Amino acid sequence: ATMPPLLSAIANAGRHGVLVKSAVVMERLGQVDAVALDKTGTLTEGFPRVTDVRPLPGSGLGERELTILAAAAEHPSEHPLARAVVAAARERGLALPPAEDFGSTPGVGVVATVDGRRVEVGAPARLLAGADDAGAALAAVLAAETEERGRTAVLVLADGVPVGVLGLADRLRPDAAATVASLAALTRTAPLLLTGDNPRAAAHLAAEAGIEDVRAGLLPQHKVGAVRELEAAGRKVLVVGDGVNDAPALAAAHAGVAMGRAGSDLALETADAVVVRDELAAVPAVVALSRRARRLVV
Ligand code: ADP
Ligand code: MG
Repeated sequence: ATMPPLLSAIANAGRHGVLVKSAVVMERLGQVDAVALDKTGTLTEGFPRVTDVRPLPGSGLGERELTILAAAAEHPSEHPLARAVVAAARERGLALPPAEDFGSTPGVGVVATVDGRRVEVGAPARLLAGADDAGAALAAVLAAETEERGRTAVLVLADGVPVGVLGLADRLRPDAAATVASLAALTRTAPLLLTGDNPRAAAHLAAEAGIEDVRAGLLPQHKVGAVRELEAAGRKVLVVGDGVNDAPALAAAHAGVAMGRAGSDLALETADAVVVRDELAAVPAVVALSRRARRLVV
């Protein structure tokens, strides 16, 4: 027997390095007419590097101590920023004390007890919300300076007091701009960037990728909100993401695709399809395969 078109399309998608979980999904991929992409780990390679270590004056910490505190708290996290902070400590040959009572909030950051201190590492705007003391003001200035240079700034607090800022930079994937252009052509709509990162770093990266519509500083539920808004306007949205923070939006989308290599387990489980080989360009390729298969089905 000849294979039904949607099943051959799934086999073909496999050859492009994309695992499509069902024939229904294979069909949905070709129906999308709007695209929302995550930034960190999706448009970027997802392997950021620490570029700045800035202890706050008066914190009593040097660069080494700040790196140790942040890396120890980040150690249990699978977030790309967490991995970068831990790698920075390793490269400097620093030994990390254990983290206890670890917790993480998608789109915000992590918290853990390190050497008896409650350490928080995460988005400056979220961790400083409501604070109005001089230390918080200084931390906000350091973070803004860092973000001005296109970096992702991460704030470190010890027992509720800001002690420093780390700057991180990630590279655009080599196929990001071409993928954005292909998806725009296939859907006849300009793709959207949805990110939890700060607006300055997001704008920098969006410009490189050829995206004009940028929504930054989003929590996971805000990403869902953006998808629902488009779907309410009659659009069928393709969401491409990799993180725990993208899982709700992947679930809400008409079709959700996760980047597999460095993607979180939750994103891979929630998504309808997984890009196993680490190429973003496989996403428009699979949309095109679905369109071709659907023409054969009818
Ligand atoms: P994106 O949407 O670009 O993939 P996330 O939603 O995962 O980004 O993260 C948004 C922001 O939340 C980050 O830019 C960072 O400031 C903060 N954040 C989230 N997780 C962590 C973490 N483990 N360590 C430090 N900061 C974090
Ligand atoms: Mg991400």
